[in-house]
Amino acid sequence: MTPTKIYCDLFGHNYQVTKNVTNHVKEYTCKCCKKQLTTNSNGTLTELTAKYQDINSALERIYNNKLMRLKQKRLSSSIY
Ligand SMILES: [Zn+2]
Repeated sequence: MTPTKIYCDLFGHNYQVTKNVTNHVKEYTCKCCKKQLTTNSNGTLTELTAKYQDINSALERIYNNKLMRLKQKRLSSSIY
């Protein structure tokens, strides 16, 4: 067991947001032991596995497309 692991076990993980996937879904990394978490579809935190990394990258793509379309819509409505 490493000292940082003991620290996390005693005081809890020190999570920091490392990525905003969407407004609701974020990825977190523990500053001490580098454990990664993400928000799942229920809105609760779960370990960031390869499966969730795939889901998140798909979500991110969809979310960014939506944002872009919203921006274009706003742009065209300001012209007319
Ligand atoms: Zn930790």
